[in-house]
Amino acid sequence: MTAATEFMRPAALAPWACAPDQTRGRRLPQAPSPPRTEHQRDRDRIVHCSAFRRLVYKTQVFINHEGDLFRTRLTHSLEVAQLSRSAARALALNEDLVEAIALAHDLGHTPFGHAGQDALHACMHDHGGFEHNLQSLRVVDTLEQRYPNFDGLNLTFETREGILKHCSRRNAERLSTREPQGPAQRFLTGGQPSLEAQLVNLADELTYIAHDVDDGMRSGLIHWAQLEQVPLLNHWRLRVLDEYPGLQDQGGRRLLAECLRRMISALVMDLVHSTQLALDEARPTSADALRALPAMARLSSDRQEQTAALKRFLFQSLYRHPQVTAMTEMAKTVVADLFQAYTTAPQEMPEEHHQRPWLQRAVADYIAGMTDRFALREHHRLTGQRLFPSTD
Ligand code: MG
Repeated sequence: MTAATEFMRPAALAPWACAPDQTRGRRLPQAPSPPRTEHQRDRDRIVHCSAFRRLVYKTQVFINHEGDLFRTRLTHSLEVAQLSRSAARALALNEDLVEAIALAHDLGHTPFGHAGQDALHACMHDHGGFEHNLQSLRVVDTLEQRYPNFDGLNLTFETREGILKHCSRRNAERLSTREPQGPAQRFLTGGQPSLEAQLVNLADELTYIAHDVDDGMRSGLIHWAQLEQVPLLNHWRLRVLDEYPGLQDQGGRRLLAECLRRMISALVMDLVHSTQLALDEARPTSADALRALPAMARLSSDRQEQTAALKRFLFQSLYRHPQVTAMTEMAKTVVADLFQAYTTAPQEMPEEHHQRPWLQRAVADYIAGMTDRFALREHHRLTGQRLFPSTD
């Protein structure tokens, strides 16, 4: 319990952590690269790949050109990595592995966030669909072209397992036929991913609920009067105002920052504490033993309820705000138009895409890899329409 309550640096990894010297390895065996561990090496490969750089111009909630201060997929991924690492360190887990998973977890996202993904999934309805988690795996397994003798980044099993957060049964069957002991197997046989992967999943949620409140307030689409109705936020608002009564009068930016800072710290402490309690009870003897148990990474039931209420608030007030949905409807049009244009005239894509045998999948990969602004430029070039103002 020391690790959970005092946040001291543990001397050694927990027995259920993914030890770097016990990796299940890479699909294509490679000589080690000391002094880096295999998971540090994965992290480095991810940071240097081109899909990672493109995350800077991909939407989280707000379309990229709406403002320079909103989160993008890149800053979101960095925040997830920071939060996951804090929790992993406190729980004596493999920090390098959680960092690699966190930095790669959104690599497969289309431009325009979930609107883009929904549109691409609809376009691919008769051609196997589109899933962003699976696409993230495709990016690191095949789409990146950086090595002379293999496609993709050839990452370790543990990083790939963490990237494939969800997978439909149909896709899991297809992947497992090609790679029977691969990361899709658990979607057929049951079981959990490593604790490092579970931690990143939760850290992802905690990160976005906090930063979407921040971005929502910055955009002016949500207001203090609404936040006061959300118990988790109001709790911290009252605590901060108690200590700094003048903050409400100063425009509220510092007040919001302090509320969110305290909220996220409390949630991470709760995550570490609740997870440690579950581990103390279950006492798995190894990373594989942990994979066979129910999910160990968790929040306490109180915090779970509070974060669920905050998510509901964000759905109702921000993600479904008319101004956001108007943008996402236009984004869907852009993706659907691009899909139509490239499947009708494949030569409009660069050669390496239009020469692939499965045209629809090649088009989906090409569109999924685009940044928001590149997609808008391509849409303008191919249709002559400008759906968004000032896209250059
Ligand atoms: Mg994410």
